[in-house]
Amino acid sequence: MLIKKLNNATLWNKIQKLREIIKSIDNFKQRKCWNCSKELNIYDFLSDNVDLTLEYLIKLWQTDLVEFHCCECFKNLKIKELEKFNMQIDTRTCSFCKKQLNIYEYSKYYNYLKIGELKSIWFDENHKIFCDKICLRKFYNIKGISPTRIKKISKN
Ligand SMILES: [Zn+2]
Ligand SMILES: [Zn+2]
Repeated sequence: MLIKKLNNATLWNKIQKLREIIKSIDNFKQRKCWNCSKELNIYDFLSDNVDLTLEYLIKLWQTDLVEFHCCECFKNLKIKELEKFNMQIDTRTCSFCKKQLNIYEYSKYYNYLKIGELKSIWFDENHKIFCDKICLRKFYNIKGISPTRIKKISKN
């Protein structure tokens, strides 16, 4: 809960700063989804990418080298990618409870992962897969490993 609140405060501050910066840009771009031509809003783009600095965010927004897509098209794109994964490896097993998971279930539990990260985990046999955080924690508690090291260790 606390983390969520902090994120919201960070986002809010960034929105305020972004408003100011946009006012000072003469040729601020109107962007459209490259797929469906829906008009895009830089504040939505910001809230999906809170970790980026405002400078970098604006640089991306203003460049002709990058194409943007709206949330809907992004979702569809992700579904298509997942279908491709599913054709190659349809299930993996949770390292803790031994439940079979398909890529759709896995990506739902880990929806914060980018498609590239999902891909590298799903196709790496040495990378452990868990149903959810509960299985992950239980697995590492049993082995007596502190949660802060989980990310590093689960790659081995
Ligand atoms: Zn679109
Ligand atoms: Zn499990």
